[in-house]
Amino acid sequence: MQPLLQVKDIRKTYGPRIGCTDVSFDLYPGEVMGIVGESGSGKSTLLSCLAGHAQPDTGAVIFDGRDTVTMPEPERRMLARTDWAYVHQNPRDGLRMGVSAGGNVGERLMAVGARNYGTIRDTATDWLGRVEINADRIDDRPSQFSGGMQQRLQIARNLVTGPRLVFMDEPTGGLDVSVQARLLDLLRGLVRRMGLSAIIVTHDLAVVRLLADRLMVMKGGHVVEQGLTDQVLDDPQHAYTQLLVSSVLQV
Ligand code: ADP
Ligand code: MG
Repeated sequence: MQPLLQVKDIRKTYGPRIGCTDVSFDLYPGEVMGIVGESGSGKSTLLSCLAGHAQPDTGAVIFDGRDTVTMPEPERRMLARTDWAYVHQNPRDGLRMGVSAGGNVGERLMAVGARNYGTIRDTATDWLGRVEINADRIDDRPSQFSGGMQQRLQIARNLVTGPRLVFMDEPTGGLDVSVQARLLDLLRGLVRRMGLSAIIVTHDLAVVRLLADRLMVMKGGHVVEQGLTDQVLDDPQHAYTQLLVSSVLQV
């Protein structure tokens, strides 16, 4: 089987400061890669480079055989609309707040060519259900939703088109603990049922424990350890990973 994504020697600096460097890995279809590390370790920088939101200084990101770093911008935009999805930490960055919940979902279907109003509305209704939003909220705007509902709506908007690769930056980050647990549960169900390929950035080890097959641990822009999630968390080799794991256990 060919990797869905091949990441080779990605480096991104901000002037003298390293965002991330020497990052390489392969992601296979149906795999979920977790990226963990404390704040400032380079997780978001790396994800931005992978998703084409930032231009790395060096390296290649090969999706389905094509290097997304060097491809023309229109081609990358097309990928972002069809094959990729990006779930932002803050739902406001991933939703259109002035558009109804149904519109937020339906708009993505239209972007990939759907034209029949009835079908679009039915699919949107179905997806609201899948993310546990009542169908009677379909005409409400996201600004009338709680933070957890907004995040669930953002997930529906991103998954409705059946993307081949989903990027998530701290998907449970801005939420209360009880709301996080529910969202995590929902995400786990969707990942399993849809066989999603995803790259999930988080500082929360519980998130990767539940969602990620494989784990990359970052510190100071470097990957200090990577492997199968259970292996890395149960038997961390690097001192920094040991610290991360033990500080969680003490909470
Ligand atoms: P994380 O997501 O793990 O918190 P980031 O990728 O945001 O880490 O940051 C990695 C490093 O790059 C940090 O030292 C941060 O200060 C720096 N950095 C991130 N974004 C920028 C930027 N736009 N300009 C300058 N430095 C940045
Ligand atoms: Mg970040």
